[in-house]
Amino acid sequence: MPIDATQPYDDSNIFAKILRGELPCNKVYEDEHALAFHDINPMAPVHILVIPKGGYVSWDDFSERASDAEIAGFTRAVGKVARDGAMVTQGYRLLANIGKRAGQEVGHLHVHIFGGQPLGPMLA
Ligand code: IMP
Repeated sequence: MPIDATQPYDDSNIFAKILRGELPCNKVYEDEHALAFHDINPMAPVHILVIPKGGYVSWDDFSERASDAEIAGFTRAVGKVARDGAMVTQGYRLLANIGKRAGQEVGHLHVHIFGGQPLGPMLA
């Protein structure tokens, strides 16, 4: 069920549990500010999620409350994961769902990286 992204951060969500090591993930990359892992239900040949280490509900919350260092570190991590996956030459898609209407299911900011095939129209 989609979450209400206007509510305060709740650290009982699945990605908070992955960050605390309480649940496993198929890790791609980790640094001080970010963790990246394969989506459990991939929608493209490459489907990676990148999450910040700090507790932020959505991009809206993150862009408002995160420090400049967190924002820079997270943004660079997303770029690095895509570069390391050699997706840059063929093209890829970044996506973040925010709130109920966008269908956000997990209440911890995550950026989807899709690649590995032609991706078609944006809202298809
Ligand atoms: P949202 O709709 O943007 O919130 O996307 C949530 C994503 O998290 C979906 O693509 C799910 O397949 C993915 N997901 C849910 N649980 C897990 C997990 O435990 N590991 C990896 N991906 C997950």
